[in-house]
Amino acid sequence: MSNLTKDVTFGHLKTIQLTKERLRLKKQIQNIAALKEDVASKEKLLSSKSKEQLAVVSTLQSQIKKMEKQNSALEQSSRQISTALRSMGSHGTGYYGLGFFVKPTTGWISSQFGSRRHPIFKRRINHNGTDFAAPSGTRIVAGDSGYIVVAGEKSQYRGYGKITIIDHGTNKNGVRVSSVYAHQSRILVREGEFVQQGQEIGWVGSTGYSTGPHLHFEVRHDGTPVDPMKYIK
Ligand SMILES: [Zn+2]
Repeated sequence: MSNLTKDVTFGHLKTIQLTKERLRLKKQIQNIAALKEDVASKEKLLSSKSKEQLAVVSTLQSQIKKMEKQNSALEQSSRQISTALRSMGSHGTGYYGLGFFVKPTTGWISSQFGSRRHPIFKRRINHNGTDFAAPSGTRIVAGDSGYIVVAGEKSQYRGYGKITIIDHGTNKNGVRVSSVYAHQSRILVREGEFVQQGQEIGWVGSTGYSTGPHLHFEVRHDGTPVDPMKYIK
């Protein structure tokens, strides 16, 4: 082999090597670009997910605020009822009713009397009555006989919506008994009227602070709420 031939062959080999190297580099650049794209799209996904989570958190927070506001308004209305009942004049002596309550409406019990933790909001909530869930317009009857002392929509009992309160008089233990019917769609009685146990006094509704049609029923002893289910026969 002549020297010239050797040089040509060497030059050819060098060209092949360079081409290979170029290809390898090109491939590496492509890989890096692909990785960069991947990282960018993952970052985008993460930021949209955290935005979604932030939105969920702020929705929950505003729901909690709303619930707490409504709850404190209901409790304030409840305290106003206690005050009014404790200072209420009397229509007569003794007990006007039969001494027990009938179920004030049909439907199922959707919330019991008492204090509990809200399952989602983890807040303590006081419930001063028993809730009966029933379609709007379902009949409400007087739990026991007595005088209507409140009938209508009162600003001081705002959370209760359309409300009726019956005074049942003073029982043999010297306790003044009354019952409360809240969130009605319609009231069929007037203040001062005497109603008999089982008499229709209104319709179920969702007025005031209420999340759906139901009767919020309370029994009170000297103005203080007690568990209504203990007195319903
Ligand atoms: Zn209730």
